[in-house]
Amino acid sequence: MPGPIWRRPSRRATVIALATLTVAALAGGGVAYAAATQPAIKTSTPRSERQITNIDVLRQQIRNYYGDPLGTGVAASDSNYAKEAKSVEAQGEHFLADRHHVHGTKAIVLDVDDTTLLTWNYEIFSNWAYNPTTNATYVNNQMFPAVFGMVDLVRTAEREGYAIFYLTGRPTSQKEATLGNLTEDHIGVDAGFPKPTALSDGEDGLFTKPAVADYPDYLKTACAGDPNGSCTTIHYKSATRAHIESLGYDIVANFGDQFSDLEGGHADRTFKMPNPNYYLP
Ligand SMILES: [Mg+2]
Repeated sequence: MPGPIWRRPSRRATVIALATLTVAALAGGGVAYAAATQPAIKTSTPRSERQITNIDVLRQQIRNYYGDPLGTGVAASDSNYAKEAKSVEAQGEHFLADRHHVHGTKAIVLDVDDTTLLTWNYEIFSNWAYNPTTNATYVNNQMFPAVFGMVDLVRTAEREGYAIFYLTGRPTSQKEATLGNLTEDHIGVDAGFPKPTALSDGEDGLFTKPAVADYPDYLKTACAGDPNGSCTTIHYKSATRAHIESLGYDIVANFGDQFSDLEGGHADRTFKMPNPNYYLP
């Protein structure tokens, strides 16, 4: 299996990185000790079981939300999930149609998993337990349909003159399959998105996450303080958007399903896609 342990870095890697974090060189003593491991997700502590949705009941609620009560892996186009996704589409299209005065070439940035490509089939297959090996099978076989409404949004934006950039935490080893799933290559699912726009410096407009050793200078600089110099999702994505803007583009809108897709600036406005299935800090 080509792509090793990388697609959703934050989910596993953050905990590991924190676990190995050491605090070195205390003033005077020079003693190093391991910092206490902290969970990657900061949240509240329920006082009672009654404040917690039973996890099997929650899975059923999510299946209902996707219009797939029996868990077949196919989300329904009239589901509440689809309605919420299409509502983001409508808000996005309204906003983009209105932006005439921008600095530079107007552009939009879109995340891939659960922003443009819908991974519901994999959530059902994996019973919400992400595994990089089985996930890579879905990615490399280009098995994901489009998120409801998003092909229309991106095609409309392209007609209106926006440059189209995709920015994903998927590793560079999955780049070709990602492009093939988003656009037309007659392998697996072709979701129907327009090709990414080539940038003024010749880059192809689909940004995947390189191995640390292959980082371009803008990632080396932005992520020097991250564990092992490996970018957090927020640093990887915000530094890439800054890089795009440095080439003369104005990122008018940034679309993502995770808050880590949207934090860190370098977009005039952010749009949050619905996704109750996982959380990537
Ligand atoms: Mg995503």
